[in-house]
Amino acid sequence: MTYFDYSATTPIAESVLHLMNRVERDFFANINAQHALAQKSRSFVLDYVEKMAYELNIDSRNLVFTSGATESNNMVLQGLAKFYPTKKHIITTQVEHHSVIAVLGELQRQGYEIEFIPSIRGHLDLHAFEQLIREDTLCVTIIAVESETGLIHPLKEIKAICDKHNVPLHSDMTQAMGKVSIDFNNITYASFSSHKVYGPKGIGACVLMRNDIKPLIFGGRSLSKLRSGTPPNALIVGFAQAIIESQQALLERINVVHNLRKKLEFGLSNYQDVHVNTPTHGVEHICNISFIGQARHRLVEKLSQLGYDVSASSACSGQDEVSKIVLQISGSVECATSSIRISLSHLTSEAEIDDLLHAIGKVIG
Ligand code: PMP
Repeated sequence: MTYFDYSATTPIAESVLHLMNRVERDFFANINAQHALAQKSRSFVLDYVEKMAYELNIDSRNLVFTSGATESNNMVLQGLAKFYPTKKHIITTQVEHHSVIAVLGELQRQGYEIEFIPSIRGHLDLHAFEQLIREDTLCVTIIAVESETGLIHPLKEIKAICDKHNVPLHSDMTQAMGKVSIDFNNITYASFSSHKVYGPKGIGACVLMRNDIKPLIFGGRSLSKLRSGTPPNALIVGFAQAIIESQQALLERINVVHNLRKKLEFGLSNYQDVHVNTPTHGVEHICNISFIGQARHRLVEKLSQLGYDVSASSACSGQDEVSKIVLQISGSVECATSSIRISLSHLTSEAEIDDLLHAIGKVIG
């Protein structure tokens, strides 16, 4: 099989796997214990946490480890709600990931009012956004890079508006991490995950620039009071290593993927009735395209039979015939029923692109 679903998850990097093996063998002790191996393990793990924070240009005290971005999104949104019980209004977008939508749905059932920023073809109306902010606005939550189309939101401008009204901004940065350069000055809280950046599954993080989150998980000592549980040494070190590598190689990886993407789109332009849905201000590694007249799940199935893993949408959004996100961005039902996501990586080869183009030709031919 040839893999083109790097936005759903990535294979773990060999260097990360190797390091994790070492940690499980040599530094496995509970880092909160007193004995010598615990202290050795603690300093090994914390050294990687420091290096990770350095690469992200944040203070390591602002970093909290979780089981993944789903938990991070829950931690921030529910933790904030617990901290400010009288603030019952949240502002968001129509293109959030399920791990935000589902938390907001739950809060709505508890009496919160959720409002959506109007947008035109994916561009948020920032003037209308400012009008939505109220005295009782708990927070604004906006995905940094949308998973299905690669749309990038202008967090810097959004944060400036939030600051003017003293409202915190949370961003789900899961699809942005390691794909675009990130400035944590543009958020109050952020969520991201290891398995999207060639790290292990089962670990993610929150970056918290303020201390106004109440914990959801209580228990024994950990690395942070906000998230109890014995720290998973190998997962933390593996995640940190994956982040270090992805930050250090960021520009190089963007460049490689940019060239692959150009080749892919050039090849696709030879076919008729093909429409690229990813906006020009989208990320390089996500190419969302519609093959007008073809049903999207059928396309995914046929390509899979030929040995190519692509997806109809983000893996968490189910099997809808119509992509709500593509409909939002393209404004076309035809595009929204025939769209697939091809997600690329610096690991993708030019030959793989050639082969995929050939397979697409066969499938739509
Ligand atoms: N947010 C976004 C934008 C995602 O793409 C994903 C993964 N599909 C998640 C959150 C959930 O991440 P995790 O699998 O680490 O819980």
